Amino acid sequence: MTAPTKAARLGTLAIEGAFAVAAAARELDLAGREVIHLELGQPDFPSPSHATAAGIKALQADDAKYTAPAGLPELRTALLAYARGRGIPAELENIVVTSAAKPMLQYALLAAINPGDEVLIPNIGFPIYPSAVRLAGGTEVMYPIELVGGRWQVNFEAIERSITPRTRAIVLNSPHNPTGWTATREEMERIGRIATTHNLWVISDEIYSGLAYDYADGSSPSAAAVPGLIDRTIIIDGFSKRWSMTGWRLGFGIVPKALYTDFVALIINNTSCTPPFIQRGGLAAVEGSQDVVHALRKSLQERRDRFVRGLNSVPGMKCAVPSGAFYGFTDVRELLAKSGLTTQELQTRLLQEFGIAGCPGTDFGVAGEGFVRFSFATAAPKLDRGIELLKEAAKKLGG
Ligand code: PMP
Repeated sequence: MTAPTKAARLGTLAIEGAFAVAAAARELDLAGREVIHLELGQPDFPSPSHATAAGIKALQADDAKYTAPAGLPELRTALLAYARGRGIPAELENIVVTSAAKPMLQYALLAAINPGDEVLIPNIGFPIYPSAVRLAGGTEVMYPIELVGGRWQVNFEAIERSITPRTRAIVLNSPHNPTGWTATREEMERIGRIATTHNLWVISDEIYSGLAYDYADGSSPSAAAVPGLIDRTIIIDGFSKRWSMTGWRLGFGIVPKALYTDFVALIINNTSCTPPFIQRGGLAAVEGSQDVVHALRKSLQERRDRFVRGLNSVPGMKCAVPSGAFYGFTDVRELLAKSGLTTQELQTRLLQEFGIAGCPGTDFGVAGEGFVRFSFATAAPKLDRGIELLKEAAKKLGG
């Protein structure tokens, strides 16, 4: 007897290609090859030591039982202060703690849309957005993030043109993975006007806030800080990036008060709660000195300047300076034209023949054709070696 057929929804799932590239790169590592890892969105900084100490202490005290589904009150209170520090007029009933940002993204779509609704998402953009929309029964409608005069820019006119009576939400990501585009306050206000006019939810992924290089404290403007927007805005955030805690799987949401109990219900249906000893680590990270975040941002900014300069010296490659996050989303179209390769083929050959692991732009939507994403959240000598290898590759492949 054959097994039962699997669910059709599985066919609608995208994956984060970076994990597939990382697995292929690890095989080369194991085979003893030199590999420069620029594929994963993960800072090479350790977790803040006070976060690690608090997590260990909590585990040793057996703080390892079920806890409040919305999150430890202490952590929610600390996150409330964090949100207010970003100008968000939040109260405790706006804050929920989740097991990383990704589930929070899924909860947001499950909470905001009905089957058949349309959701605006960025193209180029994080590949999990279309998956999350489809899992909630919706349809994604892409809006462009494009290079205008050497700078990445969201096309707001295209957003307005794409709105139909079925549009229910807009997904925004600032600072943006993979281009580094960071919305100004005026641009957030513009999103606010569009959302209010058409009665849309704003689902704003702000996980790279704190890593916006044009702001003295690194904090990019938040959608929920736009006057009047908090009641239609769901903020996705977490500990993976600015606190360099990817493996802790700790995230949080700033959600409309009217949806608070619904988010708690979604959490209860999924994980029941976030592990309390993990939350204790997070609490130490939020409450402790933010010098670690500022040091991380400063270091990333230096690496950005060095690496982007390097990328622009590689024949056939061009990279716009990202104003946030930690990726060089590199235009390789000239090299593709010279070599006759597709983006995917170029990425494979860069890895297999030259030992440079990056993500093909096509992992981030059809508009990513002709681009490769390199993370610069790694040590400067490795970035320099990466540039050396890219120059070798450009010479051999580009003729
Ligand atoms: N949103 C974006 C835009 C991201 O780049 C990532 C991580 N790659 C996430 C969300 C997921 O974060 P977390 O590790 O908290 O699930």
